Amino acid sequence: MSGATLGGRIRPARGRFAPSTTGGVHPGTLLAGLLCWLDARSRGAEVWLRLEDLDRERTREGYVEAMRRDLAWFGLEWDAESLQSSHHDRHEAALEALVAAGRVYACDCSRATIRQEGVRAPDGSFRYPGTCRAQVVQPSSWRTTDRPLRLRLESAFVPLLDESGLDLSGDAAALFGDPILRRRDGAFAYHFASVVDDAASGVGRVVRGRDLAPSTILQVALQRALSLPTPAYRHHGLFLERDGEKLSKLHGAVDVATLRRHYAAEALCGLLAGFVGLLPAGEACRPADLVAGFDWARVSSVDVELHWDEGQGLRAAATSDRDRSRPPAGAC
Ligand SMILES: [Zn+2]
Repeated sequence: MSGATLGGRIRPARGRFAPSTTGGVHPGTLLAGLLCWLDARSRGAEVWLRLEDLDRERTREGYVEAMRRDLAWFGLEWDAESLQSSHHDRHEAALEALVAAGRVYACDCSRATIRQEGVRAPDGSFRYPGTCRAQVVQPSSWRTTDRPLRLRLESAFVPLLDESGLDLSGDAAALFGDPILRRRDGAFAYHFASVVDDAASGVGRVVRGRDLAPSTILQVALQRALSLPTPAYRHHGLFLERDGEKLSKLHGAVDVATLRRHYAAEALCGLLAGFVGLLPAGEACRPADLVAGFDWARVSSVDVELHWDEGQGLRAAATSDRDRSRPPAGAC
């Protein structure tokens, strides 16, 4: 386990929950927050909340407030809390250091141009072919350009195994191409801001949904470019929803505002914990009740399909019953 020494004692590595504020809170948000929080609390570690609000087009003031309110209602409290947009100065300083090292260039390519290259990156985006690499920006000019800024990424194979056993090794330059650091609209890019903030907050463990696993190697490449430490990563299963024939990550099926009219917080917490194997079905609990018995070995490793209707409430699909049948240790 990673940790830092403080006064001769090993301090357990700090965790963080970093949801984006581009939509309403749904059961998937609560599951991610709960697992992240339990991972930290069960080790006696701090866990910080960082609300990722850099996407100016999609973030709404109401989403930020709803996130804070619903997480608190659910029973999750944090040792520190911040809005990512309040860390603008540190993002800018990190970008400036890369510019000074001659590693940043301005990109003129449209999305359509990049798509024409036709190579998919592991996260489903299109790999950037490096067309504009020669257009290196200078310390005197990068602030005023309205073009996206990209990092010249050195090619390097990096071995990477997450704690759940996922092999995420790879060469980020070959898989993704040069990542965007600052977007056309002036917002700092998600991966760049995340790694800068994790390091500045002393985050030693990143616990998040498996949908984010494919881009982890890109975050590690950014950490290396910025001479930042790499935290331990763990990726967990997701709540899915059915849209016709297709199963996708839970988004729109039901929001927490609706669920709050149907469930007390303890009932909803017990229900979600039961869906992933942490409690017998039908029990209610607060997140704090789950700390003592928490063990990743008891958390379902498969994704769970959720269904919602007003009459029957929130249910998990029968396909994952097999995985949830293990006897839970330590109920609340
Ligand atoms: Zn370009």
